[in-house]
Amino acid sequence: MIAVSTIDPAARLRELRDLIHEYDYRYYVLDDPTVEDAAYDALYRELKALEEAHPELADPNSPTRRVGGAVLEGFASKPHRRRMYSLDNAMAEDEWRDFVTRAANKLERDGVAFDAPAFWVDPKFDGLALEIIYENGVYAGALTRGDGEVGEDVTENVRTVRNVPLDLRPHAARAGLPVPRLLEVRGEVVMTRQDFYELNERQREQGGKVFANPRNAAAGSVRQLDSRISATRPLTFFTYAVGSQDWGDGLAGPGWATHSAVMAGLKALGLPVAGQGKVVTADEVYPYFEAMGRQRQELPFEIDGVVVKVDSLALQEALGFTDRAPRFAVALKFPAHEAETVLKHIDVQV
Ligand code: NAD
Repeated sequence: MIAVSTIDPAARLRELRDLIHEYDYRYYVLDDPTVEDAAYDALYRELKALEEAHPELADPNSPTRRVGGAVLEGFASKPHRRRMYSLDNAMAEDEWRDFVTRAANKLERDGVAFDAPAFWVDPKFDGLALEIIYENGVYAGALTRGDGEVGEDVTENVRTVRNVPLDLRPHAARAGLPVPRLLEVRGEVVMTRQDFYELNERQREQGGKVFANPRNAAAGSVRQLDSRISATRPLTFFTYAVGSQDWGDGLAGPGWATHSAVMAGLKALGLPVAGQGKVVTADEVYPYFEAMGRQRQELPFEIDGVVVKVDSLALQEALGFTDRAPRFAVALKFPAHEAETVLKHIDVQV
């Protein structure tokens, strides 16, 4: 049990920052968290609220100002060409409405219209964020998100993930798309529930490490120093965005003006895109989130919410980023009491 002081905000801020730094290290670096996500999220939100109430106690090194994660010793590190961000969370419908109001206010201040905006919604995959790099259409490397600026080079490990295409050129030819000189694809590597149960079964038989949940199993399997071990692990990748692109002749992309067009383009290039993504209006976002909450047990992989992005790329650019997250996207997370506790379903030996 951790003793907490509720009286002195400066002391409580220090406590929360220290605790969260420690939890981040265990989760992002060691893939071995010691607290439930819901407990972590409650502390994080308390820290954020306290920082908003006491701007005079701001700290540039606070966990709320950065993307969690660091390079594990033994891995080569590599900078991302474009920074990878985290996402702000909304836990209830009014927080989703607040997100829309904040976006509308920011755009209004900048003289940009935000009438009847469209949103791209898709599942929030519970795995490890990855960036996969294609040069002239050919697989050229993969990086973890790391601290958002520098990731771990997991090129050899990700090469063994079966549904990651190694050559986009035949797909581009079939789809009548040009082959990009450079295309960075962002997504999440997950382990399906079935693969997770089978892996743990094997690990148990062989006296190996048994994983607490599919997220840790996926993250631990990618972040292996020996890529032969990664190759034996059943991993699945889902694409959700692009990073840097160079299509030659200074084109940003083959005429993509919306996130939904990007997703359709990535799918046409052979990249794995989950089937649940779609374009909706602001009023349809929350019903989509609730429907996904009801369906989540039927999906073969775990999700911890849905991600909502402003569909127009021009509006995304106008909204921009905070230190830690885009202003054009938000994660709607399932409430804690609905959170899946895989630990309860299986006999975990840790
Ligand atoms: P996040 O997981 O809340 O959201 C950002 C990430 O969502 C992105 O990096 C991306 O990889 C992922 N994502 C999944 N599906 C996506 C989609 N369709 N579109 C875009 N992005 C998608 O943020 P985070 O900073 O990675 O992690 C914070 C969360 O991790 C916390 O809310 C907490 O639940 C958990 N955490 C837990 C502990 C712990 O000790 N239990 C510690 C640290 C973090």
